[in-house]
Amino acid sequence: MNPDNFQNIISFIRQTFKTPEGFIPLHEPRFYGNEKKYLEECIDSTFVSSVGKFVDRFEEMITEFTGTSKAVVCVNGTNALHLALLLSDVKPGDEVITQPLTFIATANAISYCSANPVFVDVDRDTLGMSPRKLEEWLEENVEMKETEAKVEVKAENSKPQSPPWGDLGGLQPFNKSTGRRIAACVPMHTFGHPCRIDEIVHICNRYNIKVVEDAAESLGSYYKNQHTGTIADIGVLSFNGNKTITTGGGGMLLFKNKELGEYAKHLTTQAKVPHRWEFRHDHIGYNYRMPNINAALGCAQMEQLPKFLKAKRELAKKYDAFFSTLTSTFVTEPSHSTSNYWLNAILLNNKEERDQFLEQTNNAGVMTRSVWELMNRLPMFQDAQCGDISNAEWIADRLVNIPSSAII
Ligand SMILES: *Cc1c(COP(=O)(O)O)cnc(C)c1O
Repeated sequence: MNPDNFQNIISFIRQTFKTPEGFIPLHEPRFYGNEKKYLEECIDSTFVSSVGKFVDRFEEMITEFTGTSKAVVCVNGTNALHLALLLSDVKPGDEVITQPLTFIATANAISYCSANPVFVDVDRDTLGMSPRKLEEWLEENVEMKETEAKVEVKAENSKPQSPPWGDLGGLQPFNKSTGRRIAACVPMHTFGHPCRIDEIVHICNRYNIKVVEDAAESLGSYYKNQHTGTIADIGVLSFNGNKTITTGGGGMLLFKNKELGEYAKHLTTQAKVPHRWEFRHDHIGYNYRMPNINAALGCAQMEQLPKFLKAKRELAKKYDAFFSTLTSTFVTEPSHSTSNYWLNAILLNNKEERDQFLEQTNNAGVMTRSVWELMNRLPMFQDAQCGDISNAEWIADRLVNIPSSAII
């Protein structure tokens, strides 16, 4: 039997959330600001859909908050990841490296490009991709081969047919065992805790691999004082209902290169050529733009973000102090980083203890859950190439998320 008394943990959570009885969810949104006012403005003006001032304002607010060069709103984070991979020149049959410990959206976006995921282990302290394991996998599996440039002809009065950086050819990485090109790498900042993103970008640059930062969970998290999602060339945020702020459903692309961001904006709006009356499209575009009504919610939520982040840090501090007296470990922000503590997590001593904890807390109306089933164990990805993933397996057996809503 576990030396920690799970009943004490349940009482502590109930007391902290000032909820002596009834259900305590894992993460709830908070609408205490201008949400209703902005939604009403939207409805009164009839601009609820693909045109309206809140879309531009929301992009500006995110640009300013994260310090990115260009932010582009999307209907959700999964679509934003899909577009980020297309813009990273991921082609059918390519391989894309990611981590086995992530939410399904990361791996699904790779599949939407008809590319194949490769799973590289995480670090135990960050819960995100391990640069050391990444480097080991690349050293063992990759050969660099000379390829020819595929520069497409630019049509007159048209945007370029491929992203500004295009397929420039040159030395490219190929997987020795599958013969496929390795096009991109998607590390993820798990539960808002930043991974060692600078080292990952550095390694990938050496191999000519593009990096897309899945920062869906880490709005308000910083790595070495830089906002997550702005360290690689492209980053992605999510505003799903359970994230730190919500737009109902929504996502955002963050770009280092402004020109690439403008090209992305064009693609998310059906690639329509701007004109007063002519209706012409110069690409296969996507209807990935966020409606004004969702952006209205986003603007109101962004105003509240500093308050949410403060409340989440206070909650994490309370949890940390409480769990320091027990044998289970509270997961704290890694060194060199500031976490938004989106979802709080603890590590139990083993899988059996984890299962007992999940059973007891959920029976008591305190919502807790184990981490996502590792991607390589899912039927769609069980044949995917996978390095040594012992850290992800260790974490998956022990980690449990505990209630994390901002207490305001
Ligand atoms: C939430 C999330 C996404 C995007 O999800 P949407 O619901 O499509 O906005 C992507 N990756 C990770 C890791 C996430 O947690």
